[in-house]
Amino acid sequence: MLYEIKESRAVISIKTKRAIDWLSSAYLRPTRQRIALAEVLVGDDNHRHVTAESLFDSVKSTGDPVSLATVYNTLAAFCDAGLLQEVTVDGSRSYFDTNTHDHPHFYWEDTHTLTDAPAHQLRITQLPEVPEGAEIGSVDVIIRLRRKTV
Ligand SMILES: [Zn+2]
Repeated sequence: MLYEIKESRAVISIKTKRAIDWLSSAYLRPTRQRIALAEVLVGDDNHRHVTAESLFDSVKSTGDPVSLATVYNTLAAFCDAGLLQEVTVDGSRSYFDTNTHDHPHFYWEDTHTLTDAPAHQLRITQLPEVPEGAEIGSVDVIIRLRRKTV
């Protein structure tokens, strides 16, 4: 472990351990607030896509006093550290993905939720030529879904 945790209890939960390990993997100091947010993000070892607001609501329900401003700042710090990938939909709606590998997304228009699409089924055979002096930074694939009406 990269950081010594001053923990009064001898036993920490597996959720907390995962959170601390995740933070430590990016050399982030595991502060109480970071751990609280990281537990919600990676505590169950599943990938998730959150917005600042949905993460704020989730952490609020755990009883940890974390402000929305702290949630925004912490999400930005997690992105800078490479722990999260930001996915922007509609130019303004930001989702934060614990899966930082390149992969396509489904965007559900009715619920404004983002889920992973099966990456192995995606084939991009050709991209347009980029303008002189430019290079492709990344390619985001977001497939917008609406529910079928009968
Ligand atoms: Zn994803």
